[in-house]
Amino acid sequence: MGTYTITVLPGDGIGPEVIEQAVRVLHTIGERYQHTFQMHHGLVGIAAIQAEGQAISDATMELCQGSDAVLFGAVGGIAGYEGSKTQVRPENALLRLRKELELFANLRPVRPFKALLNASTIKPEVLAGTDLLVVRELTGGLYFGKPGEIRETPQGREAVDTMFYTEHEIDRIVRAAFDLSRNRRKKVTSVDKANILNTSRLWRQVAERVAGEYPDVEIDHLLVDTCSMQLVRHPTAFDVIVTENTFGDILTDEAAMLAGSMGMLPSASLGTRQTAHGLFGMYEPIHGSAPDIAGQGKANPIAAILTVAMMLRYSFGLHREADVIEAAVEQVIEAGYRTEDLKEAGKPVVGTQEMGRLIVDALS
Ligand code: NAD
Repeated sequence: MGTYTITVLPGDGIGPEVIEQAVRVLHTIGERYQHTFQMHHGLVGIAAIQAEGQAISDATMELCQGSDAVLFGAVGGIAGYEGSKTQVRPENALLRLRKELELFANLRPVRPFKALLNASTIKPEVLAGTDLLVVRELTGGLYFGKPGEIRETPQGREAVDTMFYTEHEIDRIVRAAFDLSRNRRKKVTSVDKANILNTSRLWRQVAERVAGEYPDVEIDHLLVDTCSMQLVRHPTAFDVIVTENTFGDILTDEAAMLAGSMGMLPSASLGTRQTAHGLFGMYEPIHGSAPDIAGQGKANPIAAILTVAMMLRYSFGLHREADVIEAAVEQVIEAGYRTEDLKEAGKPVVGTQEMGRLIVDALS
C-alpha cells in the first residue's frame, strides 16, 4: 500500500488515446493492490503551444519536478508545426523534460511475445528467444550539441548540428548499462562509429575503462552500421546494447519491428534523482503521435500500458504489480486479440478502447 504522485502528459495525436488506456490500467492496479496513484494532468506539445504558447510551461515542469514519475504520451504531428521556422516546436517539450529532469538513460526493452512472432516482418525462427535491452544516452549528442542551426550565407543557406560528449556523460550511461546487465545475461554491446567519429573514439575508450570495473560482464564493441544489420540477422545475440542518443533513436525503431509494431514498445527515462519511493523516471511509449491514425480509435495502447509496468517496476519498486500487467497483456495477445497494426489472418481486430478493456479485464 502506498501513495504515488504521477504527472500525466498525454500530448498530441494518439498520445491521449493510448494514455487513457494506460491510466485505466493504473486505476485497476491501484484498486486491486490498494495503492493510491494521484494523477495530475498537464498539457504538452501542440496542445500546450496552442493553450500556453510553449511546448511545456514552467508550471507543468514544476508539476513534473514535484511528482514521483511522469507518464508521457507523444508530441507533434500536426501539419503546420512540422519543419516550421518558429522556435516553438512540440518536440521542445521532450528535450526540455529530458534535460531539466536530468533523464540521461533511456531504457527500451525488446522482448517479442511468442504469439506475435508471426506479426514481425522478420522470420519467426530468427526472432524466437530475442530478449534485449537498449540503453540509449538521452541528454547529449547531436540533439543537444551547439551550434545547431540553419543559417543564411552569401553563398546560400547552410546547416550545422554538433555531436558533443563529455567523458562524464559517457561514463554514467555505460555504467548504467553494466549495472542493468548484472540482472540479465551479463553481456554489454557498446555501439559506436569509432572508425570515423571522435565522439565515438572517446566513447569506446571510456566503455573499455568502465568494463574493467565489471569483470563478471562480457563487453563487445560494434559499429552502428554493423549493429543495425546484426539486429535483424541475429537478434538473439544481444543482451544489453548501450549507445549514444542518435544511434539509439534509430536502432530502437528498427528493434521495434522485432516486436511486430511500434505500438508494442515501452520505454523508461531515468537519471539519478531519488523520490520517497525510488528512482524518479519518465515513462513513454517509443512511438510518436501517429497522425496517420490519430482520432480513429485504431492505435495500439499496449506500448503505453507496458510503460506503466516499467514505471511500477523502476520508480515504485512494485515488481509484482508490474509482472501482473505484463502477464495480462500477454494473456490477451495469446487469446488472439490484435489491434490493426498487428493484424493477422483469422485473429479478431479490436480498437484502442477495446484492447484496453480486455487488458483491464485480464487484470481482474
Ligand atoms: P510515429 O511513431 O508517430 O508513427 C510511425 C508509424 O507507426 C505510423 O504509421 C503509425 O501509424 C504507426 N504507429 C505508431 N504508434 C502506433 C500505435 N501505438 N499503434 C499503431 N500504429 C502505430 O512516427 P512518425 O510518423 O515518424 O512521427 C509522427 C510525429 O510524432 C512526428 O511529429 C514526430 O516528430 C513525432 N514523434 C514524437 C515522439 C515522442 O513524442 N516521443 C516520438 C517519435 C515521433
